[in-house]
Amino acid sequence: MARCPACPTGTLRDKLVETWQKRRGQWVLLKNVPAQACDACGEVVFPQKSAEWIGDLVSDENQDVPTGQDVVLVFDYTVIHRGAAQPTPTEMPATTAGAPTAKATSATNVIFSDGFRG
Ligand SMILES: [Zn+2]
Repeated sequence: MARCPACPTGTLRDKLVETWQKRRGQWVLLKNVPAQACDACGEVVFPQKSAEWIGDLVSDENQDVPTGQDVVLVFDYTVIHRGAAQPTPTEMPATTAGAPTAKATSATNVIFSDGFRG
């Protein structure tokens, strides 16, 4: 076990942690990221593999992740590394409920039949 770099007494232990990272101006939550956490002060140290994964994910060159405002994307390290080819947001807002296309179509129909009758 490695000694904690942030305090004199702590020891780093393997742990899955959550971490907030900023990607293209948007906060994303990364879950279950393998890391080492201090048992005394809580300092979190990411091993190289995790740090590289985070770096790739939040890179501006990563075009595979949708962007949007007021949307929190959650990435679960353990889910993604279970075999998914690409990072997949696991929580998205239910925007489809507010989609206006169906309503707009029926409104147009009503106007048309009114005009047809008159
Ligand atoms: Zn510590």
